[in-house]
Amino acid sequence: MHRIKGALLVDYGEPIRIAELTVEEPGPGEVLVEIRASGVCRTDWHAVTGHLPLPVPLVLGHEGAGIVKDIGSGVQRVKPGDHVVLSWIPNCGNCRWCILGRPELCDVAITAAVNGTLPSGVPRLFWGDDPISCFSSTGTLADLAVVSELSAIVIPDYLPFDQAALLGCAVQTGVGAAFRSPLAAGDTVLVIGAGGVGLNIIQGAQIRGAAHIIAVDPSEVSRRLAEQFGAHTTINPLDEDPLLAILDLTDGLGVDVAFEAVGQGSLIALAFNATRPGGTTVAVGVPTPNESITLNAFAFPSQEKTLTGSWYGGSYPLRDVPRLIALWESGQLQIEPLIQRRYSLLDCPQAFDDLQAGRGGRSVITW
Ligand SMILES: [Zn+2]
Ligand SMILES: [Zn+2]
Repeated sequence: MHRIKGALLVDYGEPIRIAELTVEEPGPGEVLVEIRASGVCRTDWHAVTGHLPLPVPLVLGHEGAGIVKDIGSGVQRVKPGDHVVLSWIPNCGNCRWCILGRPELCDVAITAAVNGTLPSGVPRLFWGDDPISCFSSTGTLADLAVVSELSAIVIPDYLPFDQAALLGCAVQTGVGAAFRSPLAAGDTVLVIGAGGVGLNIIQGAQIRGAAHIIAVDPSEVSRRLAEQFGAHTTINPLDEDPLLAILDLTDGLGVDVAFEAVGQGSLIALAFNATRPGGTTVAVGVPTPNESITLNAFAFPSQEKTLTGSWYGGSYPLRDVPRLIALWESGQLQIEPLIQRRYSLLDCPQAFDDLQAGRGGRSVITW
């Protein structure tokens, strides 16, 4: 049993507390990780507001990196002392979706995430005597986390934890969405929302050879970052009608591939309307579960457009994290400039306020 501090959501809409918690030793197939860095992602905020109704009390955070302190029985892939990035989808390898090559849809991992538990279902986190939930089988905004062995992806010891943590969500989600889209070299690409995920879609699109990348974001800081990450043109939707501006930039046709990285029905519709006939729109941002989209039905048959989604970038972390690290080390992928602000765990509530204020880039909590 270890005494720790963690960012706890006691109930929806309440302020985030930095609470004294206890964490038990890892069980079979589980790993105890000392968290060294954790990003602050908008999906955590959806849990805080209750729009993503996860069981509370809940320890927040799902974008972490740290050091393995202890392992439970039967763990083979990691050992104490290993540096790891945490995957928030500990895909089981055995369910229908894992076998079909869609590990991001793993039944076991999604069920555990919805229930706020580890895949084993056994609680390891306690507030007083009461078992509590963790965000997406991780709960990285805490000093220590017990996670499934399947969540712990070993990385080289020399990588800085604050940057490595971002591989856990924003980088895999964004770059993966671009890599697994039908984007071909020479294509024109639209990215709506240039936050942590959107910036990674932009750099993924650049690596895939996009000829023209258009980014839409109301924040000046985010537009500047979008240019730094490879956007050729940026649009402020508060200054001009974004659809007219995009059509104007593409000879009235629309873009080949459009990505929505905010998670709003109206913006997914904008991305679809800005996609050329025969093109593809990819919804990447996580909307609240009741959000709907209104689209012109005639556009589907008459223009043969495709609207699809991307969850966790379609990533298989054991395969993809090493590839992303290779791209990072070769200089094709930037991670450091994503980090716009660093905080201690005690200042975590401020990090969420800054996320809400649209201050741009990623906030990272470091230990
Ligand atoms: Zn995330
Ligand atoms: Zn599975």
